[in-house]
Amino acid sequence: MTRDHVPSLAEFIDGLDKRNPGQPEFIQAVKEVAESVLGYIKAHPKYHDHQILERMAEPDRVVSFRVCWQDDEGNVRVNRGYRVQNNNAIGPYKGGIRFHPSVNQGILKFLAFEQTFKNALTGLPMGGGKGGSNFNPKGKSDAEIMRFCQGFMTELYRHVGEDTDVPAGDIGVGGREIGYMFGQYKRITNRYVGVLTGKGMEYGGSPIRVEATGYGAVYFLQDMLKHVDKSPEGMVAIVSGSGNVAQHAVEKLLHLGAKPVTMSDSDGFIYDKNGIDEEKLAFVKELKNKRRGRIAEYAEKFGAEFHGDGATPWRVPGQLAVPCATQNEVSGEDAMVMLKNGAIAVSEGANMPCTLQAVHQFQAAKILFAPGKAANAGGVGVSGLEMSQNSARITWKEDELQRLLRDIMQGIHDRCVKYGSEGEGSRYVDYVKGANIAGFVKVADA
Ligand code: GLU
Repeated sequence: MTRDHVPSLAEFIDGLDKRNPGQPEFIQAVKEVAESVLGYIKAHPKYHDHQILERMAEPDRVVSFRVCWQDDEGNVRVNRGYRVQNNNAIGPYKGGIRFHPSVNQGILKFLAFEQTFKNALTGLPMGGGKGGSNFNPKGKSDAEIMRFCQGFMTELYRHVGEDTDVPAGDIGVGGREIGYMFGQYKRITNRYVGVLTGKGMEYGGSPIRVEATGYGAVYFLQDMLKHVDKSPEGMVAIVSGSGNVAQHAVEKLLHLGAKPVTMSDSDGFIYDKNGIDEEKLAFVKELKNKRRGRIAEYAEKFGAEFHGDGATPWRVPGQLAVPCATQNEVSGEDAMVMLKNGAIAVSEGANMPCTLQAVHQFQAAKILFAPGKAANAGGVGVSGLEMSQNSARITWKEDELQRLLRDIMQGIHDRCVKYGSEGEGSRYVDYVKGANIAGFVKVADA
């Protein structure tokens, strides 16, 4: 092999497969990027001769540790914890912590890899990382959650820091968990610093961090539609999930005059033909954030349809789709049905909710498709602003942060258009290609 050899996609994936056995989600995430980026590398000799994409797809560090905690019956329980520090070429490692039984090293490697590109796209100086545990928060008491979070931070504290690696929330980790972890970090180190983002407003959190991911995903949808002289007003929107991201995606869809009709959790989904309005959304927020209830209760209360057995909402007709639950929730078959039902735009609120087959369907049909690393970057964008506020020991006003979030999303859209446009005579933008190349160029140049 010559020094300036640029591998074919097959060669690249073969090498990746051999180095990462049993990590299908990681291979999938890297493959999606390689599909866009290898051609770009080939066309730009300055990126030859550096193994540049291979290096980005090999985490700087994977920390794996034991977490012991005591349940309410006094039994000692054991889980595995991880922090994947993927790349810090442009800033400290940054990315969430996920508590979910599906968590393993491969899933966190995929998320940390995605995060590297996402964070680069925000235009802020943040590298990429991700952490988590296979701990299942479902059904645990508040005291058990507290003891688990403290146990997790008792090991993690030595690997993170305000200029080293700044974790935040993700699936299963919200304000409550961040609070318990932040308290433990302070207790151990005796340092009050912005080592985590997504903190409560009383102790260094930023206005609109909670809303940012969902709002941002819908802003991106709005910008894609505007680029082709359309608007979300009056359009039916299919949303999955019912956590923080889904709740605020629904809220922003309502602000923009769209009609969201579905939400879901691991039990199934609700289909409210009359539309989920502000009042019904307030019920979902109370149900999920305070009572930690199930989405089926919505159907009982408002007389909407409930589809159980873990069903997903992708067969419900609608022009817009915002998947906000988890990875690989939209299959190639789902994508086909969505296209048949008239979908014109998809914005990924979650990380990699569409399988590679689904992405290929959307690209072939040339509908507007925003990959998560672009569409859901508003959350980590406002996390970056929380870091700045913590360093300066100030809090910016809410309207200022709303404006900054809008600017960040617009900036990401523009970067995607720059690298994803088909060129003369066509207004079609391949946002997957645009996001992947824009993120790659920034990190590669650094
Ligand atoms: N977990 C979120 C994400 O996937 C937020 C990360 C952060 O704020 O650091 O981007």
